[in-house]
Amino acid sequence: MAKYIGAHVSAGGGVCNAILNAEAIGANAFALFTRNQRSWVSKPLAQEEIHAFRSLLVERGFDPGYVLPHDSYLINLGSPDEETLAKSRAAFLDEMQRAQQLGLQLMNFHPGSHLNKISEEACLDQIAREVNRALAQTEGVTAVIENTAGQGTNLGWKFEHIRRIIDGIDDKSRVGVCVDTCHTLAAGYDLSTESGYNECFEAFESIIGLQYLRAIHLNDSKKGNGSHVDRHEVLGEGFLGKDFFSRFMHDPRFDDMPIILETPDPTRWAEEIQWLRGL
Ligand SMILES: [Zn+2]
Ligand SMILES: [Zn+2]
Repeated sequence: MAKYIGAHVSAGGGVCNAILNAEAIGANAFALFTRNQRSWVSKPLAQEEIHAFRSLLVERGFDPGYVLPHDSYLINLGSPDEETLAKSRAAFLDEMQRAQQLGLQLMNFHPGSHLNKISEEACLDQIAREVNRALAQTEGVTAVIENTAGQGTNLGWKFEHIRRIIDGIDDKSRVGVCVDTCHTLAAGYDLSTESGYNECFEAFESIIGLQYLRAIHLNDSKKGNGSHVDRHEVLGEGFLGKDFFSRFMHDPRFDDMPIILETPDPTRWAEEIQWLRGL
């Protein structure tokens, strides 16, 4: 199977439950939070939980390369505020260390926001410096930058922003990109038409390079092209439309990487995954 598809499943009650939740929807990839995503500090993962996760993953037939942990929403590596930056730095390192402990290879994060207090360039360069710090203290885990919708002062919605962060990373083998299809449309790359789709990924290739593409967040969008509003929709029911998903499923550039649904209705994930596989 060339496409590895799943959803951002709940890890409520422990990270092992994410594996079972992914299995229940017919997934062969999944995303999860490895800690409370709305709190700055979390209890360390217990040794028993780490062992249980690693063995259950193999037992249920998942490849760790297709598991994509997502960092806490609070983290802002581009923060102009000293205190928030210090907390973000510690939490980001913890996220990377947890991924490593669980035997995972990727960690998906939102780049950051300048809050109108520093320039875009200064913010992007700071994000790269912070990622370098965490990479130097971990092993085997790639920091995966997610493109954003460009809501508020969030950076990372232009491919040029992501390029600038990558330029600042010392170890290029441990930085990657996750394309969120809802965010991409909201950012103004019109993925809903065939020409827009082709132009978008040509721009990605020339500005960033497809070798950095490590994961996909596959979401439809409740808002239109260039809206800069981050509202996910059920696949085929938003502004991306059914043709987009058919084009995507036939595109070999998205083979062999985790493809994660973050669509709004978990009760429909099994059906959405089946629908994709049938396209
Ligand atoms: Zn996303
Ligand atoms: Zn989003």
